[in-house]
Amino acid sequence: MGRCNIAIDGPAGAGKSSVAKMLAQRLGYLHIDTGALYRALTLLVLRKGVDPTDEAATAKLSQEAQIRMVSSYGGVKVLLKEEDVTDAIREPVVSENVSLVAQHPRVREHLLSLQRQLASNGGVVMDGRDIGTVVLPDAGLKIFLTASAEERARRRMKELRNQGHKVTYKDILLSIRARDNLDAERLVAPLRAATDAIPLDTTGKDIDTVVEEILGYLSAVGGFDGCSTNL
Ligand code: C5P
Repeated sequence: MGRCNIAIDGPAGAGKSSVAKMLAQRLGYLHIDTGALYRALTLLVLRKGVDPTDEAATAKLSQEAQIRMVSSYGGVKVLLKEEDVTDAIREPVVSENVSLVAQHPRVREHLLSLQRQLASNGGVVMDGRDIGTVVLPDAGLKIFLTASAEERARRRMKELRNQGHKVTYKDILLSIRARDNLDAERLVAPLRAATDAIPLDTTGKDIDTVVEEILGYLSAVGGFDGCSTNL
């Protein structure tokens, strides 16, 4: 038996990345934020002046992109052609365009193999939109995190303001709702809970509480002793 892979999906701002990061630290697992891959590609698309709705052009860039995730002191760094873009991919302009890039089947196909490769040895907490349904359908534990759109917008606003961005609550709520719609309604790998995912509403809960709940679920599926299903 090898170490489990854990899939954490949900809409923007549900707390996936913070929860996945802390969970990975507690378990000694690797955290892979798959949104960062789509964001890095979107940054490249914008820098090259390519139209994010152009599937052929974005798919071509996804093949050349050379996106890597490397573990470093203080977390995982995202590299685009060896340039550290960890902060640049969080800029609001990237958030506004990423769902347009992520909707293209050919882009998703290319990033799918990269994601599966990253999880091939087990011991990964992977967060995104389609991890439990498409990327790792055999994950040992699948969690679908939710929170009200208002709470998600408040969290994003705090995060962005802490980074020095001047943003309004109203704009963020609108942008989160627009992203939810695009992610949930796209034809390929839409945002959806896997039938065997455990739904977990994080509204009003802090990260520690959510992580403890997930560790409880992991223990219940026997995941502390490893997984035989997904490796
Ligand atoms: O998780 P984050 O909000 O950073 O993701 C940015 C965007 O990347 C999402 O809104 C979605 O369009 C796309 N994404 C995706 N599939 C994933 C992860 C992210 O389509 N597995």
